[in-house]
Amino acid sequence: MDHDEAPACDRHETEVPMQLRTMHSDSSRPDVVVGLFECPECGHERRLPIRTETAAA
Ligand SMILES: [Zn+2]
Repeated sequence: MDHDEAPACDRHETEVPMQLRTMHSDSSRPDVVVGLFECPECGHERRLPIRTETAAA
């Protein structure tokens, strides 16, 4: 898991990295996991797809 992929909350002038709370897998897209990120500053939540497959192939 690469924590450097954490998105920044867009509700702040400064760049506030959001924290990964939970991850959900999508049965229709087994290679994609949707991560629920939450901003530690304002609690803003955001869902972003996280690719679990590496680019090694
Ligand atoms: Zn925020």
